[in-house]
Amino acid sequence: MVKAVVGANWGDEGKGKITDMLAEKADIIVRFQGGANAGHTIVNDYGTFALHTLPSGVFYDHTTSVIGNGVALNIPVLVNEIRSITEQGVPAPKIKVSDRAQIVMPYHILFDEYEEERLGKKSFGSTKSGIAPFYSDKYAKVGYQVSELFDEDTLKEKVERTCEQKNVLLEHLYHKPALDPKELLEELHEYRDMIAPYVCDVSAFLWDAIKEGKEILLEGQLGTLKDPDHGIYPMVTSSSTLAAYGAIGAGIPPYEIRQIITVVKAYSSAVGAGAFVSEILDETEAEELRKRGGNKGEYGATTGRPRRMGWFDCVATKYGCRLQGTTDVAFTVLDVLGYLDEIPVCTGYEVDGKVITDFPVTHLLYKAKPVLTVLPGWKCDISGIKEYDKLPENCRKYIEFIEKEIGFPITMVSNGPKRSDIIYR
Ligand code: GDP
Repeated sequence: MVKAVVGANWGDEGKGKITDMLAEKADIIVRFQGGANAGHTIVNDYGTFALHTLPSGVFYDHTTSVIGNGVALNIPVLVNEIRSITEQGVPAPKIKVSDRAQIVMPYHILFDEYEEERLGKKSFGSTKSGIAPFYSDKYAKVGYQVSELFDEDTLKEKVERTCEQKNVLLEHLYHKPALDPKELLEELHEYRDMIAPYVCDVSAFLWDAIKEGKEILLEGQLGTLKDPDHGIYPMVTSSSTLAAYGAIGAGIPPYEIRQIITVVKAYSSAVGAGAFVSEILDETEAEELRKRGGNKGEYGATTGRPRRMGWFDCVATKYGCRLQGTTDVAFTVLDVLGYLDEIPVCTGYEVDGKVITDFPVTHLLYKAKPVLTVLPGWKCDISGIKEYDKLPENCRKYIEFIEKEIGFPITMVSNGPKRSDIIYR
């Protein structure tokens, strides 16, 4: 049985917590897209961890963690992450990395920085992890698969060709130091030695696992609105964030994905530039929610930068859930809203004088004004509550209002960062 855990919004919905929780009953957890640019924060008995590359099931002894072919693999980041969790007392995880995953090269990170610098005020707000240059190269067919590290003659020749091509841009567009093929080759030898113990034919491994009836979780990064096709293009990420892409980025049959758990946060947050219709524009109000949000405030797990804050957006979330193919909604971080007397919820967008409820294309998003419906708050701390019926009435009304607006069943409500902070409906 394969289940996907994905986001409906702009990312940071709490997918890490939900995956970590579901991993208790899973055998294999797979990352299928994205890279070390986003992070998950996970709180468990070993401590608090910010994971960037490892799947969130890595804390159990019984699970195998898989990096699928769809991931932008930063080898030193992965190896450091493994080292850092084992140093904090987590048992050595079982890890498999696809031989077809492509490698984030040192120059991808440089190009990401240089391009953001060149764009200046028009920059994308990239985390500068090399993700956009990486995926550009992958689709321009000049990327490096992990397997290529093990074919020395071809590798050497390819490195020379790569440097020739990249150095034109470095010299003439960015006015930066050139790449040295010898140095690059040496770096790739180090990468080869670091990754060798983990390399695996992942699609074959997963095929067998499916046949044996193993429970597999696909863990998405970011959310629908950052998908390069269906999100707020061009302020998106470079690989698909949809559950459907899980089949490709892991190498499994699409019909094997039976359950799609879409994680939805009880309010909105976004990082980077781009339209954000339900954004809270009053900075005092936004800061109040930001500092109470998430586990230790809404600040990026990778960059530490403050996230942009907004009210819950039914238009964006209904769309986000639909594109994911949601079977279940996990509604997270609800406990944070207990301080508010009243809670605005965005139920429509006004565009050119008309109210719409279908999420529009990017250029219309910039014109959209939020239509807010104000719901009463519940004014108490709901953390520790285990049963749905024990939640305050206004809190249940908030959940049920949103469930009706988005049109997908909320089957889990998360009321705290820990594994056990969950209410099943
Ligand atoms: P992800 O990338 O989707 O996994 O999300 P992040 O890890 O970036 O952000 C989610 C944050 O919220 C993390 O700090 C989690 O520890 C925290 N979190 C997850 N679920 C809950 C919840 O129900 N309540 C609270 N207070 N924090 C939560």
